[in-house]
Amino acid sequence: MNYQQLLLDYQKHYQKTRALEYMLTLARYDALTIGPKKAVNDRSLIMGYWSIELFNHNNSAQYENLINNLEAVNYRLTPEMKRTIYLARRQINQIKKIDPQDYRQYSELLPQAQVAWENAKQTNDFSIYAPYLEKIIFYVKKFATANKTVEGHLYNTLLDQYEEGLTIAKLDDFFNVLSKRIIPLLRQIEKSSTHINDEFLNHKFPIDKQKNVALFILNKLDFDLSKGVFSESAHPFTSGISPNDIRLTTHYYERNLLSSIYSTAHEAGHGIYEQNINAEYHNTVLGTGASMAVHESQSRFYENIIGRSSIFTSMLLSYLNKEFNEQFIDVNEKNFYHCVNKVTPSLIRTDADELTYSLHIMIRYELEKMLIGDQLQVSELPDKWNELYKRYLNITPYNDQVGVLQDVHWSGGAFGYFPSYALGNAFCAQFVKTMEKDLIIADIIKSGNLIPIKNWLTNNIYVYGKLLPPFELLKKVTKESLNPNYFCQYLEEKFKDIYQL
Ligand SMILES: [Zn+2]
Repeated sequence: MNYQQLLLDYQKHYQKTRALEYMLTLARYDALTIGPKKAVNDRSLIMGYWSIELFNHNNSAQYENLINNLEAVNYRLTPEMKRTIYLARRQINQIKKIDPQDYRQYSELLPQAQVAWENAKQTNDFSIYAPYLEKIIFYVKKFATANKTVEGHLYNTLLDQYEEGLTIAKLDDFFNVLSKRIIPLLRQIEKSSTHINDEFLNHKFPIDKQKNVALFILNKLDFDLSKGVFSESAHPFTSGISPNDIRLTTHYYERNLLSSIYSTAHEAGHGIYEQNINAEYHNTVLGTGASMAVHESQSRFYENIIGRSSIFTSMLLSYLNKEFNEQFIDVNEKNFYHCVNKVTPSLIRTDADELTYSLHIMIRYELEKMLIGDQLQVSELPDKWNELYKRYLNITPYNDQVGVLQDVHWSGGAFGYFPSYALGNAFCAQFVKTMEKDLIIADIIKSGNLIPIKNWLTNNIYVYGKLLPPFELLKKVTKESLNPNYFCQYLEEKFKDIYQL
């Protein structure tokens, strides 16, 4: 068949995929922000319809045939089309090997599991959730076995689904380095005589004023609101509908000002990434972030490297003073910087500080590896969870609500997803090390104009969209494979200074 015709056929196929994904993304965004709760059943029905339409669209013999033909002329394709066809094949293989009967049962199980998890969390009763979790793990393992892409442990296949090329071997090495460096530092901090008094942060901060602060943050970080929407949801997230339509959310708590500030900065990082991907990739599969870990490296960059730096927190403090009628008048810049970076081992992952966050992820990783490898039963999960919290963070959850039941991920079948959160921090530190060869980051933050930083990120990272797999992109940018030492070094320098160790 004519090679040009094949490309046209592919474009036509992808247009429909894109249209369906667009509607699903909009519907999800709507459900999580302003959609009335009472419409949940109507919405689920409609979204179920679009999901099946999308599944079938990418699961037809005709489409597979098209991809076969394009693979046969691979030598004529541009690097972009080669990557596109590679990703299409990966997706076909994943879908094709799943028994449609199993897929239907699994799709019906997930919403039930979600409700069971919510009930279990509300009543602090893990036994309500346990049978659903057992079934989810059964299907997750069945699908991974059918579609085994990586040798060895079954969990490798799950990791690879979220982060191409990620394996247990890589992660074991990675977390080994992290735990050897972070845990001793944490113990030193716990014993240190430096006491950070952040009591003033528990005062009331009116929500309408917090909204002004959030807009100040978006503006300072240079998120382009003319190509985006900013709203609220219980759990902040970013929805990449198209590079010209990036929707961020945050949440506001009257007595937790920092939560909305740093959620906003975090989501802005995700949004800035999506807004600045190579324009030639718009409306193609390459027109999005390289992977979840690379995405997280950008959200963490804007949240921590910029947002929690001493220069930025000083600017923030003077703004907060004006906004909150001098409520911060007795707080000095150094004190505020320390409060924003205070280390407190906590039970809840999403409340964790920059130092302890990766330990929470390491615990999820250890547990998932054991669950998927049949070394741990669901019934033993709460005890094991508590044991690992004691071992790594030196605290014990006082109930399952603040323990094993805290995260939504497993009730959605997301096994293999957590490690990307920790990898993101390490990717970030490694990118920063490279950026420092070209830019003096502190001076740019001080100037109040972050464009040179955004340009650097755009030219070195964003421009590639999804063209390169995450570990290849990391190597291309930093000329090095994953090296967690940069992240550890960053943490040690920062927190030894703050805690005077
Ligand atoms: Zn994120």
